[in-house]
Amino acid sequence: MENRFQMFNTLTRKVETIIPNEDGKIGMYTCGPTVYHFAHVGNLRSYIMEDVLEKSLRFIGYDVKRVMNITDVGHLSDDADSGEDKMLKGAKRENKTVMEIAKFYTDAFFKDCEALNIKRPDVVEPATNCIPEFIHMVEELLKKDYAYVAGGNVYFDTSKLDDYLVFSSAVEKEALKEGVRDDVDVDENKKNKSDFVLWFTKSKFEDQALKWDSPWGVGYPGWHIECSCISIKHLGERMDIHCGGIDNMFPHHTNEIAQSEAYLGHKWCNYWLHVHHLVEKGGKMSKSKGNFLTLSVLQEQGYEPVVYRLFCLQSHYRKPLEFSYDVLDNMKNAYEKLIKKIAEIPEEGTVDEAAYADYRKKFEDCLCNDVNTSTAITVIYDLLKSDVNGATKRKIIGDCDYVLSLDLLKNAEELKNGASASVDAELLKFIEEKIAERKEAKKAKDFAKADAIREELLQKGIAIKDTREGTVWEQV
Ligand code: AMP
Ligand code: ZN
Repeated sequence: MENRFQMFNTLTRKVETIIPNEDGKIGMYTCGPTVYHFAHVGNLRSYIMEDVLEKSLRFIGYDVKRVMNITDVGHLSDDADSGEDKMLKGAKRENKTVMEIAKFYTDAFFKDCEALNIKRPDVVEPATNCIPEFIHMVEELLKKDYAYVAGGNVYFDTSKLDDYLVFSSAVEKEALKEGVRDDVDVDENKKNKSDFVLWFTKSKFEDQALKWDSPWGVGYPGWHIECSCISIKHLGERMDIHCGGIDNMFPHHTNEIAQSEAYLGHKWCNYWLHVHHLVEKGGKMSKSKGNFLTLSVLQEQGYEPVVYRLFCLQSHYRKPLEFSYDVLDNMKNAYEKLIKKIAEIPEEGTVDEAAYADYRKKFEDCLCNDVNTSTAITVIYDLLKSDVNGATKRKIIGDCDYVLSLDLLKNAEELKNGASASVDAELLKFIEEKIAERKEAKKAKDFAKADAIREELLQKGIAIKDTREGTVWEQV
């Protein structure tokens, strides 16, 4: 098929046309959540945008296979952690076992996804399902001399690579330049500052809850190995698109690339997409800070999940997005107005194929332009303003909403049904007769009568509005 989908590739720092390894097919991998707490709305921004990426690719005709891991074996909370892993920290906080915590927060994550119309990836694999695969990869890396054992742990030797910092990003360089902070113990086992652990048997986290037998003793995997193994297991040795939040770029993705390509002996993934952060006034929203905003808090405050989805889609994924209730309120109003406009589309005509193809192409072009969701939404506003007939409008909106997933037709339909359900049949008949009578009056240029009818309806709590498509009414 013709390849015309373009996106910014973090690896080359250029907007590029995606050329898949296999014609018409895309293998896509997403770094999944660490399930020690609820996802915050920042995490969910990443998953919304990745969902749109997947659906855009499907919309323009690719056969997509998407894989996601669930990090249920704890990676360290941060460099300065005083001796707990994230999963164990969650278990202690709630007086549960690590596996209970993992199950609870995995379910909670997918509940949020469902509310936000985020499609479940084709394959979802918890890290704890794949321990034999991790051990196999570490053994191979040792055989190929890309890894070494020191102090009971297995480390990846970054000095064996010509180009370790593949993203050549300022973040990568800064992180290494900064060196080790005063409050963190230096790991004397490492040959190079940038080396990272593939398998732990000895660490400061002696009370690690989940441990497995391995050729190096009882222990647990390093954080990065899971994404390399899980993606190769399900997508094969060559993958098309890998995505995650921008904080995943370094060290996580840098290390994934190092170990995967050392293991495979060739290039692994061609395109990398990173979603920039949702930020608060005080900086990045972060789970480990403990005090963060979840989707259920927004729901309790009366915001429908689709309103938060619209909030995300109105900005570009490659820009930080500042969370603000004012903007969210504007989105809520914009969403309600949009639904009302869609509900007002008259039931008329048959699909005009030329107009349909024209608008669909406009919408696809926005998606193919580095997933430009906000311009894609303006295509719908342009359509609503146009002379295109009702049947065509509805079909185009239905199609576009496959990608946007804002429940546009569904909520418009509910609004319509709700409006007619809340007036009794007799009143409905009266309104329809009065609207017809007013139309005749206007035709006969009897504007005084037309105004009188409008007033009469208003007295009964019915406001009417003349639109390009005809007269519509609402209860006031
Ligand atoms: P975690 O559960 O911490 O592993 O993060 C899950 C996903 O959310 C990863 O892709 C992160 O890069 C992403 N993420 C973390 N914080 C934010 C944020 N403030 N805004 C957007 N994405 C984020
Ligand atoms: Zn990952």
